[in-house]
Amino acid sequence: MSGATTFPEATAVKVRSDLNAISVDVEDYFQVWALSEVIKREDWDSIPLRVEQATRTVLDLFDRTQSKGTFFTLGWVAEKAPSLIREIAARGHEVASHGYDHTKVFDQSPDEFRADIRKTKHILEDVSGQPVKGFRAAGFSLDDRSPWAHEILCEEGYLYSSSVHPIAHDHYNAPDAPRFAWAPLKENSDFLEIPVSTTLFGGRRVSCAGGGWFRAMPYAISSALLKRMTSTDGQPAVFYFHPWEVDPEQPKVSGLSRKSRLRHYLNLDRMEGKLERLLRAMQWGRIDEVFPVKEMQEAA
Ligand SMILES: [Zn+2]
Repeated sequence: MSGATTFPEATAVKVRSDLNAISVDVEDYFQVWALSEVIKREDWDSIPLRVEQATRTVLDLFDRTQSKGTFFTLGWVAEKAPSLIREIAARGHEVASHGYDHTKVFDQSPDEFRADIRKTKHILEDVSGQPVKGFRAAGFSLDDRSPWAHEILCEEGYLYSSSVHPIAHDHYNAPDAPRFAWAPLKENSDFLEIPVSTTLFGGRRVSCAGGGWFRAMPYAISSALLKRMTSTDGQPAVFYFHPWEVDPEQPKVSGLSRKSRLRHYLNLDRMEGKLERLLRAMQWGRIDEVFPVKEMQEAA
């Protein structure tokens, strides 16, 4: 699973220099990897949803700061809360796919993956009335264990993936993957992989992609790392977070390991304020605006 990499050299992709990309992975608190130690897939239907209320908090935050973003949404959530998906689209945001039920790509066979992303695209397009162009793998689970995934995404009509977090990590492993947008398919150089943000610090890759890292780090450090990426590297930031991260009132799940507890609950009460500061400090837009995805679609 680690060792020899299958990732090629990054190819230059024309990007906007005045805008950074912000994304929201729309899943409920109980669907998160860290909580799967305790909450099983078969329990999901019996747990009251909080994702609608939490996502509306995010939509209001984006309105207050005049930001637009990309919402990578589970097909499961769209089936349970279709009005939420319509509202995301109506408020000017991009609706994209986070797979049906948060199954990791490297836990699926190529056929299972194809069925999952096809089904989810249909559900989201039906509900939102928008074409779904982008995909993000659950837990950044697209690494060298699933070298077939980009090709299948392209065949199923997706125009981009934002599924690689190019660092070493205990859940996924892509420390040698390109840090900036690249074209992973030889036969279709328009299809893009748009990795979330990292920067180099003392020669090592450090994540400045958002989520738990952003909750854990002081704001000044996160914002300095992001500015370093946009200025030194000259690349737009690609940031992400989750609705449950702005929901400090969510039920506390007991029986988690210390690591998972920290990962999930650290600084939830400060997240919305930190995000608002970040949204006001930089210009943020949808992934299909920042990267040349719309142009590809119009040219097709
Ligand atoms: Zn997720």
